[in-house]
Amino acid sequence: METILSTDLAEYIRKECGENVFLCYQCQKCSSGCPVVEHFDLAPNQVMRAVQLGQKEMVLQAKKRAAEGLQ
Ligand code: SF4
Repeated sequence: METILSTDLAEYIRKECGENVFLCYQCQKCSSGCPVVEHFDLAPNQVMRAVQLGQKEMVLQAKKRAAEGLQ
């Protein structure tokens, strides 16, 4: 499996909302304090890391576990 790293997604987010995803240093406070983290494939810090690495498909294909149970 080929892995392509890109900053395109991070740049898109920065342009759209002004957030710099590269400021995330994986402290995991967002995930440890999230009351619904167990219902998602990716925890908030994992989403941030995926965005930092340009893993757009990983982010977009992440699903809510509850939704998967309905398929
Ligand atoms: S996004 Fe989450 S993991 Fe990243 S710095 Fe903020 S609280 Fe920590």
